[in-house]
Amino acid sequence: QHQATVDSLTQLTNRRGFDSVLQSNWLRLARGQQSLALILCDVDYFKLYNDCYGHLQGDDCLRCIAKILGDTAQREGDVAARYGGEEFAVLLPNTPLRDAIALAERVRSQVEFLQLPHNGSPVSQYVTLSLGVASCVPSPSAASEQLIAAADKALYLAKSKGRNGFCVA
Ligand code: GH3
Ligand code: MG
Ligand code: MG
Repeated sequence: QHQATVDSLTQLTNRRGFDSVLQSNWLRLARGQQSLALILCDVDYFKLYNDCYGHLQGDDCLRCIAKILGDTAQREGDVAARYGGEEFAVLLPNTPLRDAIALAERVRSQVEFLQLPHNGSPVSQYVTLSLGVASCVPSPSAASEQLIAAADKALYLAKSKGRNGFCVA
């Protein structure tokens, strides 16, 4: 069960675990008509990081970022996950949008504060993250993928606005 739901590189919940916890939260919070927030994070110019420093150091970088995400998702029910590759997700049940936004900014600034050198990045001398924040009250008739799509759209906007920042759906 552990191997099936935990990412071996970062020890965060893996994509399968995330999908399952998203679905169960979606149904539970739809019943209680309570809010569910999601932060999607993507490392900026990570392909260039691998090209500059090699994949092993790239892996170390992902572990450092995962540690910050794991330490950030601290409340009961919060889940930090490796969504795929250099993308991470933080699921925040019963969390109002303003709290999710504050958390996203905290993650962004903590990653910047690590000051992991990234000479290949056009936006900073250090490794940075872009983030998309979304929140909703789940409905039993809607699909949980809609929350992912909204956060993903906000993340894409944060990328297009110059990276090392967050946008809100
Ligand atoms: P952007 O700022 O637009 O997100 O650019 P990017 O280079 O981060 O995005 P892109 O999708 O082009 O590259 C993602 C890179 O992440 C490519 C892939 O090799 C790397 N990557 C994905 N998973 C891992 C991993 O487990 N370890 C390492 N070292 N690299 C990984
Ligand atoms: Mg990506
Ligand atoms: Mg990236």
